[in-house]
Amino acid sequence: MRTLVLNAGYEPLAVVSFRRAIVLVLAGKATIVAHGGRPVVGGSVTLPRPSVILLARYVRVQRSGAVPVSRRGVLRRDNHRCAYCGSHATTIDHVLPRSRGGRDTWENLVACCVTCNNTKGNRTPEEKGWSLRIRPACPRGPAWVVRGVETRDPSWDVYLGDAA
Ligand SMILES: [Zn+2]
Repeated sequence: MRTLVLNAGYEPLAVVSFRRAIVLVLAGKATIVAHGGRPVVGGSVTLPRPSVILLARYVRVQRSGAVPVSRRGVLRRDNHRCAYCGSHATTIDHVLPRSRGGRDTWENLVACCVTCNNTKGNRTPEEKGWSLRIRPACPRGPAWVVRGVETRDPSWDVYLGDAA
């Protein structure tokens, strides 16, 4: 089980093991805001198993705004829905085909089903008479910049917002 670490301003900061979280709590550096599962017994103390902790002091973070583009990320951004037909997507497609100068960017990559991918081939959506159901863009928000939140505990949702 892992723990979501919130900065003193309640913004999601990191994901750590619950053991690491307990060390922070015992050291007085964090407090538990949500817990679940069986309590943790360590030495003479019993603690609730933390799923979310809040840092006592604000930590400054430097983050570049850019989220690295990846196949998995594109599928996640588009909720595994094909950008052309809306059915379940298992691949990604270059809107402007790579062979024609299309690049690996958030704006040029969309989730795609195998059927549409094969049918589209080397053409643009316009040439096929297709339209995009979404406007592909770089995803934003804490759910994208904090590592390890791809598989999340339900108790994290309120802090991470809607972007799944
Ligand atoms: Zn499709």
